[in-house]
Amino acid sequence: MNILITGGAGYIGSCTTFKIIQKYNAKCIIIDKQETSNLEKLKLNYPKNIEFYKIDMCNYTDFNELFEHLNTKSLRIDSVIHFAAYTIVSESEKEIHKYLHNNITSTLNLLDLMNKYEINNLIFSSSASVYGQAKYIPIDENHPLNPQSSYALSKKISEDIISKYSQKGLNFINLRYFNPAGTIGHLGEEHNPETHLIPLLIKSLIEGKIFKIFGNDFPTPDGTCIRDFIHIEDLVESHLLCMEKLLNEEIENETFNIGINKGYSVLEVVNKSMEIFNKKIHHKFRYTIDNRREGDVPILVAQAEKIKNKLGFQPKYKLEDILLSVWNYEIQKISL
Ligand code: UDP
Repeated sequence: MNILITGGAGYIGSCTTFKIIQKYNAKCIIIDKQETSNLEKLKLNYPKNIEFYKIDMCNYTDFNELFEHLNTKSLRIDSVIHFAAYTIVSESEKEIHKYLHNNITSTLNLLDLMNKYEINNLIFSSSASVYGQAKYIPIDENHPLNPQSSYALSKKISEDIISKYSQKGLNFINLRYFNPAGTIGHLGEEHNPETHLIPLLIKSLIEGKIFKIFGNDFPTPDGTCIRDFIHIEDLVESHLLCMEKLLNEEIENETFNIGINKGYSVLEVVNKSMEIFNKKIHHKFRYTIDNRREGDVPILVAQAEKIKNKLGFQPKYKLEDILLSVWNYEIQKISL
């Protein structure tokens, strides 16, 4: 089996690649603009399974050459998983063109080339941010879409373009992630800069730095934002399941929420982490309340019954598991 993974050097992409190799011994053709430590680990451990191409998907000529190259090698792609995107919500509010241009053009080029080279199966990494400020909680897939940031808008437009290409024979599954976090063994979040709550919080705990909570005046019970955190193990599992269903032609053209149906406020995550890790640190952990971050919506909690009912997918892990996995990962980095 040959799987093309865009953004396969990134956090979710590399974790998914790892599991695809473990489970199917598949060949993974990774396209990414960057080389990362996660990619290095994959290349080192699975040299026969990984083919890496460092290209900018917005460059149609380069991208086309890659497809041509795969074609001449008779390397038939069974499915594409499209992760590649700029993903920092706050940055996307400052750099509108960068986000819309990159995330939309890369998707459009990918779809056009898939169509040209008759590759018909796609799993797309979408985002719960497409819903914007929730009109009701939990949010199901029929909730109106009202993207608040350029990042969210780029995901919504990408979904629209994907839907357009389904008229040309594309079979797709859009996965709208809520808040993925946690690690899979030696693969974790290595964003630069890191902006996500859980890795920053755990690093603050370990390093004794003051942690900043962005806003405590949101319309939520404790004033801090509420999110639905899904363990990366579960998130990746949902991709594998969807891919199998697509390949077996048991499903096509679906959009699923991926979350755990339960929300935690930022303050609850901070308190839970202190409860679990306080005895492991030798300094006093402190946090401050900072200004709201641009583009943050108060509550995102999934109604994730659709994928459970249609595909039998049920997440296994809890917030505590996520926190522990990130703690172990960060501690291990220090002791290396
Ligand atoms: N957050 C925070 N401090 C941080 C990082 C994040 O208070 O150092 C908050 C952020 O404002 C948001 C929530 O944690 O309300 C989740 O943010 P994250 O970037 O992890 O994910 P997002 O929901 O933006 O995709």
